[in-house]
This record gives sequence, C-alpha cells and structure tokens, in this order.
Amino acid sequence: MSTRITERPIRLDDPDALRRWSLRCHAAGMTVGIVPTMGALHAGHLSLVERALAECDRVVVSIFVNPAQFGPGEDFERYPRTPDSDLELLRGLGVHAVFLPTVAAMYPETPPVRLQVAGDLGTTLEGAHRPGHFDGVALVVAKLLISSRAERAYFGNKDAQQSVVVTRLARALDTGVQVVVCPVVRDRDGLALSSRNAYLEADERRRALAIPGGLADAARLFDAGERSAAALVGAVRASLDRVAAEIDYITVVDAVSLQPVEKAGAGCEILVAARIGRTRLIDALRLGLDDAPVVPG
Ligand code: AMP
Repeated sequence: MSTRITERPIRLDDPDALRRWSLRCHAAGMTVGIVPTMGALHAGHLSLVERALAECDRVVVSIFVNPAQFGPGEDFERYPRTPDSDLELLRGLGVHAVFLPTVAAMYPETPPVRLQVAGDLGTTLEGAHRPGHFDGVALVVAKLLISSRAERAYFGNKDAQQSVVVTRLARALDTGVQVVVCPVVRDRDGLALSSRNAYLEADERRRALAIPGGLADAARLFDAGERSAAALVGAVRASLDRVAAEIDYITVVDAVSLQPVEKAGAGCEILVAARIGRTRLIDALRLGLDDAPVVPG
C-alpha cells in the first residue's frame, strides 16, 4: 500500500538545507522539481505541483513572500500568509519537501549583488507599473534554482511576463533548469485564481469578472476570424469600462518575445492588468490555445 498520501513533506528552512536535500535526491538517482510560490495556495498553484509530481521523482514547493519583488507602498505586509493550510494541502498531494525560509534566511545581509532584467523585458507591462519588480523576481528565482539544483522549475502563465523572464534567466545563467510554464487555472466563474483575490469584497469580485468576461469576448472574436489586435483589445476594454476598472494595460503580444503585435495569431496572447478598488489583478489568455474563460451569463 502506498504511504504517499500520509507522508509529511520534509520542512526545509534555509537554502543550505534545500541544497543538501536536493543533493541527497540526486545521489539516489532521482530528479528534482521545484515549484516556487508565495503561499496562500490555491488550485492554480496545485496544478503546478501536480504537473511537477507527474514529471519529477522528488518535488519541493517553496513558500516565500519575497520582499525584493515588492515596491514601496505595495502589499508586502498584508500579503496573505497561510502556512498551516498550505502545508496541509501539500501533504495531501504527497509533496516531498517544502521550503519555507524566513526573510533573514534568504537575505542574511543586504544582497551584495543584484540582477537586472535587461531591456524592455524588465521595464514594459508589469515592469512599467512595478519598477524593479522583475529584478527582485530574478534574484529570488536565481537563488532558488541555485540552491534547489532542480532539473525542472514550474511557473504559471497567469504571470505570463514572469514566465518569460524566468525562462530567459534560467537559460542566460546556464542553470540547465528546464522552465515549465503551465496554463492559467480559473475559478468556476472564470476569474483567474490568485492569492490576491482574497482582497476583493463581494461587490469587487463581481466587477472583477469583467476581466475574464472581456477575455472571453476577445476569444470569441478571434475564433470568429478577427485578427486586429486593436479590435481584440477594444473588446476587453469595453468589458472593463462597464465596471469602471482602472486599466493599467491591455495588449496583444507575441508570447515568446512579449512584443506587441498588430495582427493577432496563434502564439499570441492577450495580457491584462487592472485595478478593481485597491486590488490589482492580472490575467493572460493564449489565443487559439487556451480555452476561453467560461463566464456564467
Ligand atoms: P504566486 O504565489 O502568486 O507567486 O504564484 C506562484 C506560481 O503559481 C507562479 O508561477 C504563478 O504564475 C502560478 N500561479 C498563480 N496563480 C495561478 C493560476 N491561476 N493558474 C496557474 N498558475 C498560477
């Protein structure tokens, strides 16, 4: 009988412990997958974990709210932290190890080196609205890839730009890590799952449905043959305008280069960032690939 379900994940508290655990796995001939998260786990995170468990012999999930990727005035302090229920969920899935470091364990001193995401990639879209964000992401992901020595690392396409940054970082730093990007998981009402959805009041949550609603409208247009990026963006904008969301950006980009396109095609995605009340939400839809969000009428 399998004991996998009841096995507790090993708890690792600092990068050295993570590295030693990974070395033991490798010494036993096993491959290692890592799923980096900031916790407050939901089914979107769990889809990454399940994919990692299917593809790797040993899986570590990291839970770390990384101060380096939050700007001044952002939600670092109030970001939801639910380690007990996170551990319960991961135990249920049969995850082998959980890396739960403190800030002091990850950053015992002001980092004496910095990583900078070069060019447009770090400064457009999310980077334009959250200056320095991707430099902070790059630093923590580089540290996680180095200490975990994983063969594969799993990220979600909800954070589409982050997935591109991380894929390019893993390659540029010769980590040998294969970055696996997984599809967006949505709630039954179509809203992309996010730890930040917990901030939404009931009325805001209803308004937030304008994001997947707009993406569904755009996907329908695309499926009906519309290829003008401006028309697809217009459909999403109209939906967001109906709920008076504050739009940071809506754009159609090439999914690999993240460069905006005028004519949409397969391999393009629509990226959205908008504020509903105080809550900033992002979403992404791959045209011709992802199922459009199903938003109950
Ligand atoms: P976070 O905890 O928000 O930093 O997310 C950790 C990882 O989970 C990132 O790679 C995210 O892109 C991914 N993720 C978050 N929400 C979803 C979702 N709804 N569907 C798929 N992946 C997600």
